[in-house]
Amino acid sequence: MKFTHSELLDNIKEIFKGEVNSDVKTLDTYSRDASILEVKPELVLFPKDTEDLKKLVKFVGENKADNPSLSITARSAGTCMSGGSLSESIILDMTKYFGGIVSVSEDEATALPGTFYRDFEVKTLEKNAILPSYTASKMLNTVGGMVANNSAGEKTLAYGKTEEYVKEMKMVFADGNEYTTKPLNKEELERKIAQGDYEGNIYKNLWNLIQENEHAIKYAKPDVSKNSAGYYLWNVWDGHTFDINKLITGSQGTLAIITEIKFRLVPVKSKSKLFVIFLRNLDHLSELVNEILPTKPESLESYDDSTMKLAIKFLPAMIKRMKMHHFFKLMFGFLPEVGMILTGGIPKLILLVEFSDNDEKEIDKKMYELQRRIAHFGLKTRISRSEEESSKYWTIRRESFNLLRQHVKGARTAPFIDDVIVKPQYLPEFLPKMRAILDEHKLVYTIAGHAGNGNFHIIPLMNMKDPKNAKLIPIVSDKIYSLVKEYRGSIDAEHNDGIIRTPYLEQMFGHEIVELFKKTKDIFDPQNIFNPGKKVGGTKEYMISHIVKS
Ligand SMILES: Cc1cc2nc3c(=O)[nH]c(=O)nc-3n(C[C@H](O)[C@H](O)[C@H](O)COP(=O)(O)OP(=O)(O)OC[C@H]3O[C@@H](n4cnc5c(N)ncnc54)[C@H](O)[C@@H]3O)c2cc1C
Repeated sequence: MKFTHSELLDNIKEIFKGEVNSDVKTLDTYSRDASILEVKPELVLFPKDTEDLKKLVKFVGENKADNPSLSITARSAGTCMSGGSLSESIILDMTKYFGGIVSVSEDEATALPGTFYRDFEVKTLEKNAILPSYTASKMLNTVGGMVANNSAGEKTLAYGKTEEYVKEMKMVFADGNEYTTKPLNKEELERKIAQGDYEGNIYKNLWNLIQENEHAIKYAKPDVSKNSAGYYLWNVWDGHTFDINKLITGSQGTLAIITEIKFRLVPVKSKSKLFVIFLRNLDHLSELVNEILPTKPESLESYDDSTMKLAIKFLPAMIKRMKMHHFFKLMFGFLPEVGMILTGGIPKLILLVEFSDNDEKEIDKKMYELQRRIAHFGLKTRISRSEEESSKYWTIRRESFNLLRQHVKGARTAPFIDDVIVKPQYLPEFLPKMRAILDEHKLVYTIAGHAGNGNFHIIPLMNMKDPKNAKLIPIVSDKIYSLVKEYRGSIDAEHNDGIIRTPYLEQMFGHEIVELFKKTKDIFDPQNIFNPGKKVGGTKEYMISHIVKS
């Protein structure tokens, strides 16, 4: 039966315990995330429990043939920068009833996907442990969003992305049943395949797909230390272990709805020190990065002159964000930066190199080694003397995107080429070429990012009321992504594909691999119930027509 809007509403209300909303205000709120896109959903649902999810998935599956546009998009905090949490059909807000920590120990924690990372961290820190892939948005996002986007952050250089920390999950597949997914050895995999049921067939078909295309899949893996683009078929089977969590992580809710996650945690190191390097130009950036990396810092982050100017311009807001009480003392702490701006001595890029250890002597040894290795560059450097001083640099780095989002008048942040990555050794060639493209189109932008990984967040500021700007987005994207391909990089290291980058996956991976992505989606979700148009099936036309106009 083909539903009208009110019939759909009534039918869902009959099977669903949680709230079902379709008032204008709610639909408006959920038509946006942190991306540059706008998509109005038909319904916003707050599932009470797994039974709600199971019934809803079965309902959509049963009615999909008569209502092809019906689909389900799980949404957590909605901070996705690629439009992954937007949909024209049903949005499931997981933050209301699907939050909570099931258990925490020194080395693992189990949580529901709608748990905010900030609450999760409080509990893990009580055990002196941490999930080290936390993001710059750690005060805003959830652990489920981190898994679904395969998020990463300032400690990823030393610890890797979220994909490294997912031990086991529970999720609802497209048949409307909940399953546990964990790493399997070959015998366990064979037993799973022998089940011959819905779950067994997923394992069988995925195993066959990976075996039959072994060579192409291996070659498709981006040659960088971080990647969120595509389905990570290359990570599922390592010759000993078959782990579909490696595929679900980063799949943006297109293969299943995650209902519980068991994370591996790492111990917190008790001491850390920050080494700051001021670069007048980018000429020796990659040589510098290559000298820094062997000293094994825990973080190697960066922000540019535009970011710093912005931070100084909005100093009171920045200090508020630091949640520290000595307002005037902190204002005073920024005087060197204000001075740099006034005297025109502002550096082009600032590198933050952080070392952590339980033994302070080890940190000092590494700091000394770093000083020795970079002495010949003759750069201005500074060893941060206090936690407050370090916090100043970190706040500028972490808050750069948020500051832009909240404070720029007459223009807005336009994240669309916001997450490119190439191997650090290519930076001296890559960065000037990338800047030339941005300058050719007269874009105003900030750059901040994970220099140690060669991953930069480029955030243009654009007036989206001007239709010329929306037209620029695919033009600039095409050029930047062609450049990324030349260096075998990835178009997204951590912010994922969503609506904004799915149309470019073929440019990055080629036709053969994109066909394998389609087959992967088909294995898990043949009716296209989960989050359509992300990872597969997205078009440039759809993307362009949903760019915000304000
Ligand atoms: C100021 C700012 C700074 C940021 N900094 C970083 C950063 O440093 N590093 C980084 O990686 N990202 C960063 N991001 C992007 C974003 O915060 C991360 O991707 C984050 O992990 C998303 O979490 P969320 O809870 O908001 O998820 P959402 O935005 O709600 O969802 C993200 C994706 O996950 C899917 N999803 C959500 N819940 C589920 C579920 N239960 N089951 C299946 N799929 C689900 C959604 O459909 C969507 O595709 C930043 C964003 C902002 C606004």
